[in-house]
Amino acid sequence: PRVRDIMNRQVISITEDEEIRVAAKRLLKDETNHLPVLDGNGTLVGIITTYDVSKAVVTDGRLRQVKDIMTRKVIKTTPDEPVDIAAQKLERNNISALPVVDTTNRVVGILSAIDLGKLFGGRR
Ligand code: SAM
Repeated sequence: PRVRDIMNRQVISITEDEEIRVAAKRLLKDETNHLPVLDGNGTLVGIITTYDVSKAVVTDGRLRQVKDIMTRKVIKTTPDEPVDIAAQKLERNNISALPVVDTTNRVVGILSAIDLGKLFGGRR
């Protein structure tokens, strides 16, 4: 199977100029751990996770915006990529989700370790 077969198309994202507390609220409300970060053009420029928000709280209260704490070097995948390659990216980088981008770097989905788990066991 390919990434498009199991990716989640309901992507919850955030823009880089939002305040960190907005990101925190969104993570809580939507019960997700990863928010792809977009610039004003809707292009993927980073990723922010519950881990990053927690770290910002304990290390530096002056950090204000998503762009101050996001990870800029995003490890990502594409709809055409075989799922085993995507799974390797998660494993090797010790992360649990990959934004799925099209050829113009727009986010068309998100692939998480949970989605990969659905391939086995056949539930849902
Ligand atoms: N093991 C913990 C975990 O699974 O959350 C922490 C390690 S993980 C490397 C946490 C860091 O990875 C965060 O700073 C987050 O921004 C980053 N991260 C998560 N998904 C990412 C992705 N697809 N590409 C790049 N960085 C990512």
